[in-house]
Amino acid sequence: MAIERTFSIIKPDATRKNLVGKILARFESEGLRICGMRKVHMSLREAEGFYAVHAGRPFFAELTAFMSSGPCVVLVLEGENAILRNREIMGATNPAQAAEGTLRKLYADSIGENAVHGSDAPDTAATEIAWFFRGTELH
Ligand code: ADP
Ligand code: MG
Repeated sequence: MAIERTFSIIKPDATRKNLVGKILARFESEGLRICGMRKVHMSLREAEGFYAVHAGRPFFAELTAFMSSGPCVVLVLEGENAILRNREIMGATNPAQAAEGTLRKLYADSIGENAVHGSDAPDTAATEIAWFFRGTELH
């Protein structure tokens, strides 16, 4: 199986609830290595840029307001099959439908304020990593 890198965000609801350490520990305990990490507080414009793929969706304004409402932790995670593995650890978008033990089941409040973001495919992972990190910041 290939070693991949994926992009993750610990969202403002989770940083507000002091869940950063618990979420990072979960990634590490699942065999995902943190190879880049930074705390950021996105402006509304920056959130609109990052989530441009969702522009036009009915939840776009709510999503971008939420993502710019407080600090996030942006991360690059590395490991075997990291993109899919991270999506499994996160659980379904809607915490009500997320499997037991997943981060969203454990920590999310709603389909909008759902604790974590994770890239969904190799192309989006590459784009999202490059949005926040220079190659020299990844180790
Ligand atoms: P995921 O984050 O699981 O990949 P999507 O890419 O479909 O989910 O959506 C991106 C983000 O937009 C979600 O994580 C969530 O924060 C928000 N979102 C998605 N659907 C809704 C919705 N119906 N209402 C409010 N926010 C939503
Ligand atoms: Mg998505």
